[in-house]
Amino acid sequence: MSDKYAVIGNPIAHSKSPLIHEAFAKQTGQKISYERILAPLDGFEVTLESLVTQGYKGVNVTVPFKLEAYELCQTHTGRAFVAGASNTLIFNGGHIAGDNTDGAGLVNDIEKNLEVCLQGKQILLLGAGGAAQGVLQPLLEAQPKVITVANRNVDKAHLMLKRLAIKQATCGISVLSFEALTQQYDVIINATSAGLTETALPIANGIFSNNSLAYDMMYGRETPFMQQARENGAQVADGLGMLVEQAAEAFYIWRGVRPETQPVIAMLRAL
Ligand code: NDP
Repeated sequence: MSDKYAVIGNPIAHSKSPLIHEAFAKQTGQKISYERILAPLDGFEVTLESLVTQGYKGVNVTVPFKLEAYELCQTHTGRAFVAGASNTLIFNGGHIAGDNTDGAGLVNDIEKNLEVCLQGKQILLLGAGGAAQGVLQPLLEAQPKVITVANRNVDKAHLMLKRLAIKQATCGISVLSFEALTQQYDVIINATSAGLTETALPIANGIFSNNSLAYDMMYGRETPFMQQARENGAQVADGLGMLVEQAAEAFYIWRGVRPETQPVIAMLRAL
């Protein structure tokens, strides 16, 4: 009998998680099954309870349920607690523990796959939603020189910092509006969902340089952010590597084995 896992979201048909986890399982000789599960927008809790009852070992959670998942977990890891959102749940009998692997996925992709060290760098984080909230603490742990957070709703960015209990003056963190960004950054991370609607962000060309990495968490297509960064000389990356890296971290939590991510990223790029 294989241990059962799944990813829950709405919509979910597009999810590459089953492909990724099947590849990890094959590579590491683990016997698991992994499926996509569409939960009704008002039916996440019922769906989760049903999977626990059916003996699933854990699930990944994606849009729009990460915050609800966090609330339904009985215990949280430190990084899930800081993020206030859970994308990886571990079922142990009736007990549900919540983790968040998005930040580790991003930092691993940037440092390991793209070979850009974040220590001592000036980082700009665009966005203050669930994804930004999940990656801010892991970014801080990478010891950059400065992190600037910019969001369309500036108050939300301030709230995010408050939630993470970050004192602006002591940590080199500040909040700006998109329009107030003027200086160049070493690493610019787009954690907004503006790319979903092909919307360009109102950010100046001057924040990019030939030495910048512009990272869009979205994957699957070139976003206006990526286009703008490319036109202004930056190295550009999408979020496919982050997707695979956060999955690898979840696989490790569930199975105690760390899969190789590079072949899986290459497989997805080739599709
Ligand atoms: P949320 O809905 O929680 O947050 C959306 C964010 O985008 C907010 O900061 C919002 O600003 C901003 N935003 C939305 N539309 C616009 C716009 N037109 N102009 C400017 N800002 C805008 O989404 P998530 O944080 O969960 O996800 C963000 C992105 O990250 C998505 O594209 C998602 O697919 C991607 N992602 C990728 C992952 C990966 O593994 N590669 C993992 C997790 C997320 P405001 O607060 O002002 O509304």
